[in-house]
Amino acid sequence: MSAQIIDGKVIAETIRGEVKAEVEAMKAKYGKAPGLAAVLVGERIDSQAYVRSKKKACAEVGMTSFGHDLPADISQAELLQVVRDLNANPEVHGILVQLPLPDHIDDEEVLGAISIEKDVDGFHPLNIGRLSMKRREPLFVPCTPKGCIELLLRTGVQIEGKRAVVLGRSNIVGLPVAMLLLHRNATLTICHSRTKDLPGVVREADILIAAVGRAEMVRGDWVKPGAVVIDVGINRKDDPTHPKGYRLVGDVAFDEVKEVAGAITPVPGGVGPMPIAMLLRNTLDGAKRAVGME
Ligand code: NAP
Repeated sequence: MSAQIIDGKVIAETIRGEVKAEVEAMKAKYGKAPGLAAVLVGERIDSQAYVRSKKKACAEVGMTSFGHDLPADISQAELLQVVRDLNANPEVHGILVQLPLPDHIDDEEVLGAISIEKDVDGFHPLNIGRLSMKRREPLFVPCTPKGCIELLLRTGVQIEGKRAVVLGRSNIVGLPVAMLLLHRNATLTICHSRTKDLPGVVREADILIAAVGRAEMVRGDWVKPGAVVIDVGINRKDDPTHPKGYRLVGDVAFDEVKEVAGAITPVPGGVGPMPIAMLLRNTLDGAKRAVGME
């Protein structure tokens, strides 16, 4: 039997609608809109596109966005000053520094300079540290991992007591999503490039999160029948029949795995739409804390 397809577009749209309603309520009660500052360094086409879509998403839900397009040769000190100015600006509730930064910039120092109250990407070491500790709450959770959990929750997947396997241990996806699953009382295994018998370990999963960046690595016979599969991967696969000469595929061989899994996210249209929805949610939460809104 074919798996339930988890529709990230619909879920992300629902979340944006919820955020929009709360933004309107905030404006009506406090006369203030949540504000997101996007800091872009250099002229990478992909980074420019990401920042544009984040600003557009802000406008659609009634949030204010502040753009800071900075030259690629900006100094570390100048960039840090931009971040400090945004920390001090009461109209700004979220600060987003688009990665990657140019090589001469120490991105750890820049991300660490963002006020923890405005760290809507959730990458500040204090937020990641709290996420990794028992009975500690981060102020913000990174958007893609948070989006993966939201997909599970809104599909009615029970996490507590389930065997969860996370494939990948990056700071931006694998590790934080694993911590979130642990917080929700899954029994957790994290796999990486040195894991032995990967198919055997993955086959134990009731919930599988794949974030390896390897096109269609997870095959149908790696997956336990009925498992829930969240595919974070975005990979190009050559496809001469496609106008661009390639198409996007996940880390999971979708056509095979959908015949075995209980539920699965497609690529595109699964995890992809979630991070921006979660960024809006985080910015709204930051603004609510700032104005004292329940
Ligand atoms: P990353 O930093 O390259 O991390 C990849 C992880 O996978 C590492 O932990 C690595 O292990 C592990 N790995 C790589 N090859 C492996 C193999 N053959 N067997 C087992 N483990 C292996 O990647 P990332 O930034 O987390 O991104 C992962 C994927 O998600 C990419 O396709 C990326 O484009 C996508 N992504 C999507 C979104 C979204 O919004 N949908 C957001 C972010 C990322 P080691 O630690 O041992 O090296």
